[in-house]
Amino acid sequence: ATPTSIMVGTGRGAELGILFRQGEALQLLRDAKVVAVDKTGTLTEGRPVLTDLEVAEGFDRAQVLALIAAVEARSEHPIARAIVDAAAQQGLALPVLSGFESITGMGVRASTDGRRVEVGADRFMHSLSLNVKEFDASAQRLSSEGKSPLYAAIDGRLAAIVAVADPIKPSTPAAIAALHALGLKVAMVTGDNERTARAIAARLGIDEVVAEVLPEGKVHAIQRLKAAHGRLAFVGDGINDAPALAEADVGLAIGTGTDVAIEAADVVLMSGSLLGVPNAIALSKATIGNIR
Ligand code: ADP
Ligand code: MG
Repeated sequence: ATPTSIMVGTGRGAELGILFRQGEALQLLRDAKVVAVDKTGTLTEGRPVLTDLEVAEGFDRAQVLALIAAVEARSEHPIARAIVDAAAQQGLALPVLSGFESITGMGVRASTDGRRVEVGADRFMHSLSLNVKEFDASAQRLSSEGKSPLYAAIDGRLAAIVAVADPIKPSTPAAIAALHALGLKVAMVTGDNERTARAIAARLGIDEVVAEVLPEGKVHAIQRLKAAHGRLAFVGDGINDAPALAEADVGLAIGTGTDVAIEAADVVLMSGSLLGVPNAIALSKATIGNIR
């Protein structure tokens, strides 16, 4: 590509809200084969709501919700806000907290009201030697509905299964259809539960799913997808996505995302919509293709 074609392309991109921080990204996108996409905050709104709370025998629903909300009040994870909002809506007073700890990719823990509380993924409960089998039927039902199941432990006993659902952004289905029309494969990469991820992927017609990925695992997932499909673009919004954005041939950050993601990206999508990805690829094909 000539310097002129890159200038024309990046200028046209700016008009479309597609910011090329690297001129090379415009060229590389032309022959992308696969687009890997973070789920939370990229495919979805990133604003989950609490949909279900089922307590184990001997536990009180309102009390469990107050305890887990007290712990989540200290977390910055989108899941945390869903739980805190649900407690607020029910007018629950949150007990005072001590010793808060966040375990990346797992969940959170703290002591509150004289109780030890842990909230997080099934693997977090497993790491505490807690068996979540009694909630297996619920977990399967919830996750097949595309909801994310979480668990709460109180004083070392499994106390509840909680589900949150994160609405899909209205622009997501059209963006995936446009990527398919351009001949690309679409893969989802997420830390979320496998069954939940598959339910959402099926609904969206996504070709491949890599789920239950810990933050450091996203880079490995990108390397594997690159080896399998060829040139890869990755789209993400979170702090957790920065290493994957750097590892991809082209990293695209959602403009409404975190500064860390934006800094690691080659391209910033100012609209905050995934539609910027097929637009950027189409732009690359139009400008770079024409002039050579
Ligand atoms: P993602 O947000 O893409 O799912 P994370 O690595 O942030 O990836 O989280 C992985 C999983 O760890 C979450 O899906 C959830 O099950 C659990 N988790 C993380 N933080 C929390 C939290 N504050 N409360 C409950 N569960 C959490
Ligand atoms: Mg995200």
